[in-house]
Amino acid sequence: MIPRDEYDLGIIGGGPAGLAAAIRARELGASVLVIEQDRLGGVCVNDGCVPTRTLARAARLRRDANHFAEFGIIGEVQGIDAARALERARHSMAIVRDNKAAAAESGLAGVDLVVGLGPASFRGPRQVDIGGRTIEARKFLICAGGHARRLPVPGAELALSHSDIWTLTGLPDSVIVVGAASTGCQLASILAAFGLRVTLLEVAGRILREEDADVSATISAEFAGRGIEVVTGIGGVESMQPENGGVSVKLSGSPDSYEAAAVIFAVGWSGSLESLNLTAAGVETERGFVRVDDELRTTNPDIYAAGDIDGHMMLVQSAEIEARIAVENALDSTGQPHLRSKAHQIVPHGGFTDPDYASVGLTEEQADIENAVVAKVPYEVLDRALIDGRPDGFVKLIVSRQDHSILGAHVVGEQAVEAIHIAAAAMSAGLPIETIGAIQFAYPTFTASIGIAAREAERLLAGPSSKTA
Ligand SMILES: Cc1cc2nc3c(=O)[nH]c(=O)nc-3n(C[C@H](O)[C@H](O)[C@H](O)COP(=O)(O)OP(=O)(O)OC[C@H]3O[C@@H](n4cnc5c(N)ncnc54)[C@H](O)[C@@H]3O)c2cc1C
Repeated sequence: MIPRDEYDLGIIGGGPAGLAAAIRARELGASVLVIEQDRLGGVCVNDGCVPTRTLARAARLRRDANHFAEFGIIGEVQGIDAARALERARHSMAIVRDNKAAAAESGLAGVDLVVGLGPASFRGPRQVDIGGRTIEARKFLICAGGHARRLPVPGAELALSHSDIWTLTGLPDSVIVVGAASTGCQLASILAAFGLRVTLLEVAGRILREEDADVSATISAEFAGRGIEVVTGIGGVESMQPENGGVSVKLSGSPDSYEAAAVIFAVGWSGSLESLNLTAAGVETERGFVRVDDELRTTNPDIYAAGDIDGHMMLVQSAEIEARIAVENALDSTGQPHLRSKAHQIVPHGGFTDPDYASVGLTEEQADIENAVVAKVPYEVLDRALIDGRPDGFVKLIVSRQDHSILGAHVVGEQAVEAIHIAAAAMSAGLPIETIGAIQFAYPTFTASIGIAAREAERLLAGPSSKTA
């Protein structure tokens, strides 16, 4: 089944990082083995982005159905058939997986691909055991990804994780989502659109705490307006127990408890370290992830790691970039000057909540605000937002007074995750705001909001050193 005993590069994991790495390694002429213990595509395809995005689409269609009559469409939508929506999520996973497999067949020509065998486990610094065989490689790349954390509290076994949702055939009528980062907020938003009574519990003082404070506040207010109960600043979860056919969540340091038919944990991510036997390879870990340096090398100089397993970014686009960099570094025989460093400064990302949010670069809190202007434009100035009946949201650009480049961009509103890429491209190219303001954006589009905000930034830069609109 595995044609050779020795390879230039052995890759553990066939998710976004592993597949991107394999393609790059083949381009560099290396002999490559990819070992995937489960299904190609990793968490992204089989457990994360794809099913979440499918349900977000269902939620958005359901919301839009509320506006049929305003646009002259006759007929009412009764509600959501959760079983069919979940079936559609599984269908999406299957078609995207097939798509990956087809792409893999062409892109990975010449790569030895082992799927559904494992887990791969290190036997020594350059040896891995897999399915009763020991494989040697000159270099290894660990792309084993991660899995959802669970809170170590009494009754935690009563909680679901996001992974459990995809296998359900129906949904309960109420849910408590514990954790209000990206995954928790997306699930809360989707499930509320599906008609569930949703409570969102968060330890931090605000939801989406990694995002700009304006993004958090706006999404929080939108959630409240949609009937989602948002509870921030909780002292933690003390325990959980069965109650009235559902689950009761008791908070730490508080007399409060919350009850719902189901509880979902969305409390963070750990590296999938368990099966790798990293000690045998001399690979050290920290905070539940594989420790790497800026060149993505682990504490064993012949073993690199990329993607979620190193705990840096937890995004597909970052996993793929890291994988390519790690392969180039691992296979480089010429030495130090050619080593590439991972760079995560410009990473557009967002969430498919309703409304969407998206960000790139620095938040207002992170920026040196004395040397910047902050241009904030509400979505309601945008003709397209008015035409489509989606006037809620804003675009915020944080722009350097020194060279007029964008330091950070934040968008809340319809198509935010698409619009943010203009700001990201401008940042990558180092464009001054005047160049963005001069682009003839197609009319009427949501992306044109970036142009409007750019011209607002120009106005602020030209004026006295005041801050925002
Ligand atoms: C609910 C949810 C929604 C998300 N939405 C988005 C989104 O919209 N956009 C975005 O950019 N990111 C999103 N993410 C994050 C994204 O899924 C991950 O960042 C991405 O999948 C990481 O890729 P990876 O290759 O590093 O790891 P993974 O995708 O986790 O792949 C690792 C692979 O390694 C395999 N493996 C592990 N151990 C072994 C072993 N010992 N031997 C052999 N194989 C092994 C696993 O089976 C797995 O297939 C989401 C995540 C979740 C949970």
